Amino acid sequence: MSYETIIIGAGLSGLAAGIRLAHFGKRVCLLERHTTIGGLNSFYRLRGRNHDVGLHAVTNYNPRGSKSGPLPRILRQLRFSWDDFGFFPQCGSKISFPGVTLRFGNDPGLLESEIATRFPGEVEGFRRMARFVEEQPWGTSFPREQTARTLLNEYLRDPLLIEMLLYPVLFYGSASPHDVELTQFLILFRSVYRDGFARPYEGVRRILSLLVKRYRQLGGELRLRAGVRHIESRDGKAVAVILDDGTRLEAGSILSSAGSVETARLCADESDPGRDRLAADRVGELTFFESIASLDVPPVDLGIPETTLFYCSRPRFQYANPAEPCHVDAGVICSPNNFAYDQPLEDNTLRLTVMANNRFWFEQPDEAAYQAQKRDWNGRIFGAALQHIPDFRSHIVDLDTFSPRTIRKYTGHLNGCVYGAPEKSWDGTTPLSNLFLCGTDQGMLGIVGAMFSGISMANRHLLGGQG
Ligand SMILES: Cc1cc2nc3c(=O)[nH]c(=O)nc-3n(C[C@H](O)[C@H](O)[C@H](O)COP(=O)(O)OP(=O)(O)OC[C@H]3O[C@@H](n4cnc5c(N)ncnc54)[C@H](O)[C@@H]3O)c2cc1C
Repeated sequence: MSYETIIIGAGLSGLAAGIRLAHFGKRVCLLERHTTIGGLNSFYRLRGRNHDVGLHAVTNYNPRGSKSGPLPRILRQLRFSWDDFGFFPQCGSKISFPGVTLRFGNDPGLLESEIATRFPGEVEGFRRMARFVEEQPWGTSFPREQTARTLLNEYLRDPLLIEMLLYPVLFYGSASPHDVELTQFLILFRSVYRDGFARPYEGVRRILSLLVKRYRQLGGELRLRAGVRHIESRDGKAVAVILDDGTRLEAGSILSSAGSVETARLCADESDPGRDRLAADRVGELTFFESIASLDVPPVDLGIPETTLFYCSRPRFQYANPAEPCHVDAGVICSPNNFAYDQPLEDNTLRLTVMANNRFWFEQPDEAAYQAQKRDWNGRIFGAALQHIPDFRSHIVDLDTFSPRTIRKYTGHLNGCVYGAPEKSWDGTTPLSNLFLCGTDQGMLGIVGAMFSGISMANRHLLGGQG
């Protein structure tokens, strides 16, 4: 079997790239190891309730009619209308540190006025910094040594404000501890503070269903349970993939959303005993533990109205691989109920996400020990969060949790890293001239970012710069 392009992974970046290629009549095949699509952002049904795998909020949301920003561009490039994704805006979010909170929403003016009230001496610096971010053309790239902290320290003086502003940005996209490279900070800052959050009423399943339907209508082929075991190359070019079941598929080019180190290992000789350790120093470490509580009442009735609440019980937020199994002092509380829908959601849900130590979760000796640790840490996370929200525990009617182990199992991302490797490949190229990266390790994250990445890598490398 032979294709013009094979795409590895049917997550958001792979699906978007697939649509783009199929639009231009390319013979394209999407290969997905799992039984379903969506990757890091999929959905499932458990004991009669619908859940998203990861979705807190679609970041980078622009309201109907916006001309600039990645979302309008995605809609144009994939030929969807504003109504297709059915987005509803957030109700409002908050950053809560000891003794001080900052509210923010889809109107950037709210954050500015909160800073003017809580940090009056800093508001002018914040305005100037926001202007600087705004003035950088989309896709501007800076040397790796320039980071978010470099920029924040240039414009702001109060260390608490710097921590508070960094917190949502790091939590929603940094693969590096404590900081993020400036190129990515600009994207994340806009996606969280300038554009804002939204969610389809039906969650991520609405977006994924649209994408896969469109891809198939255009003649794209999707193979599930089709893991790629090896990428075969000759004379500096990828020529074929070998699937887990031994099937060989030839390709003129390959686009991989599996991750940069993961893809490099697929290219290595299968008989090489060092293959599983290849580029080990480039694998990320940061990952999360999440508790999903189904409640018998909407969270707002319990005094939890925020769409997302970034809480930290200490003046400094430790964005790092924690020494303990979960870092319970800081996290994100969010609810799919807290968006401005035109009708209430049927299920009431609260999600609590904290940083987790991947090794601890990988090294549990057996299933019983693993489940016991999940229950124990879930209880600790809930207990610690009560410093920031009313006690909701008596309203829990069902509970699900996932750990770094779950993320690794369902996405193949090494170490269960949600944001991939710290070093991004902004141009998407690899040592093989016709093998390219898209998605998380190309550098664009989140639902909108991943789709944007798939589209731009397809345009640039596989469609001769079209679009
Ligand atoms: C807990 C959590 C919360 C999140 N919250 C949000 C949020 O609120 N808002 C937001 O915008 N984003 C959120 N994200 C991030 C967002 O989900 C990701 O950035 C985005 O989905 C990444 O898409 P991708 O296509 O780059 O990669 P992935 O989704 O990882 O897709 C890669 C796909 O490739 C497949 N694959 C890997 N190796 C192989 C192989 N060898 N052969 C075949 N298939 C393979 C995997 O199974 C996977 O399906 C969250 C993620 C998580 C995990």
